[in-house]
Amino acid sequence: MGKTIIISNRLPVQLQISNGTINAIPSVGGLATGMKSVHSGSESLWIGWSGLTDEETPPELEDDIDKALAKNGCAKVKLNAGEIDGFYFGFSNRTVWPLFHYFLEYSEFELDFWNTYKAVNQKFADAIIEKSDEDDTIWVHDYQLMLVPQMVREKRPDTTIGFFLHIPFPSYEIFRTLPWREEILEGLLGSDLIGFHTYDYERHFLSSVRRLLGLDVSFNEIYLDNRVIKVDSFPMGIDYKKFKDAAILHSSKSEGERSDLQMRLDSHKASAPDTKLILSIDRLDYSKGIAKRINAFEYFLNKYPEYKEKVRLIILAVPSRSNVPQYQLLKKEIDELVGRINGELSTVNWTPIWYFYRSLPFDNLIDLYTSSDIAWLTPLRDGMNLVAKEYIATRTDKTGVLILSEMAGSAYEMNEALLINPNNFEEQADTLKRALNMPVEEQISRNEFLQNRLERYNVEVWAKEFMRALNEKRDVSKAFI
Ligand code: UDP
Repeated sequence: MGKTIIISNRLPVQLQISNGTINAIPSVGGLATGMKSVHSGSESLWIGWSGLTDEETPPELEDDIDKALAKNGCAKVKLNAGEIDGFYFGFSNRTVWPLFHYFLEYSEFELDFWNTYKAVNQKFADAIIEKSDEDDTIWVHDYQLMLVPQMVREKRPDTTIGFFLHIPFPSYEIFRTLPWREEILEGLLGSDLIGFHTYDYERHFLSSVRRLLGLDVSFNEIYLDNRVIKVDSFPMGIDYKKFKDAAILHSSKSEGERSDLQMRLDSHKASAPDTKLILSIDRLDYSKGIAKRINAFEYFLNKYPEYKEKVRLIILAVPSRSNVPQYQLLKKEIDELVGRINGELSTVNWTPIWYFYRSLPFDNLIDLYTSSDIAWLTPLRDGMNLVAKEYIATRTDKTGVLILSEMAGSAYEMNEALLINPNNFEEQADTLKRALNMPVEEQISRNEFLQNRLERYNVEVWAKEFMRALNEKRDVSKAFI
């Protein structure tokens, strides 16, 4: 058995250049953690973009960069600024992202974006072919690299290739609008195994394959030439233990050890003990429904005015893709909404919305999760939504209420949360009221189910299950050779 090769747009390390020396700092994100069991030792290699364009890379440091990456089991694909523009900010984030999240009107069908996407996918495929052998197992990640499986397959017909899509796959009626829909499907079908977060995304994909390519599909298998491609769902989990342990540590901190943010939250609680905190955390992305949530909050305060001064909404919006025009417009819309509502409703003692536009360190996220009575997450469409799972994992005393959009992939596994339609303000206002009044015993019994499930299907189990299915696929294919 050969090596395992992982491919994603970004490598799981961050390069830092200071005084002519290179430091490669491993990332701590969910994917990097989940892949630990897959990406370890000399039997694996992770290929991706380093985060530095060719223009930002001093040529004399090229070798040092490669060495620093190699130490972390990584190898880079070189991309220039123009390629990042067309491939990443262009086709990936101005064509595929909006379309796959059902924002049809935001999706730009630019031939230049598409051509750059193809060329960059070919670069990734070439890097794989250069650095791998026929008996290696290849796992390609996400919507930036959908053509890579087929490009590798052309040169390496017998290699085992898996692909996982981290965002939704839209229904056929949406997907069919893409001018390059057949090419994208054919690119993905270079894989032996294609994974999605939910059964619905899997179903949408199979339907597009059948209707656009006319291929034979039986249950979750696609027949193409002499190959059988398996499609399955693997809902991604979180590093449950990391969040649980951090919350336990958090609760044992003495006053002097608490962060500034925690002290502010504590002083708020002390000054207004019967005011409840409602938390939302998302990247500032139109798919997350942040503006709608703020409007729904205003609707709630108008429908149930007795909760004025009794609730506070904390919004943490993490800056994202800020050179894409739609994101700039959204930022402006949210700034204005928060300003207007706070301006209209604030009293001497109360500001209804605390709005943070920044990324917070891990410890501060734990402060927010553990201090909030309710997490209110209202994506209009979301592949999974890990924040929902993280909030539950930090509730060590099992209290807290999660209100979650049914449009998030995580809603399929989190039935004990209060599930809402983010477009239905009436329902959201009533659900907020219900959450604010939910008896502690009910909170505990709901969260017990949720925590047990999240602990069992953590991110490591997710990665292992995908690899197990991929290895099974390889063994079956080999048996027929
Ligand atoms: N997160 C973070 N810094 C922050 C706020 C959030 O690293 O300041 C993390 C959060 O812990 C979660 C991730 O960002 O793991 C967001 O993942 P999610 O699936 O909810 O949404 P995505 O951004 O992937 O669409």
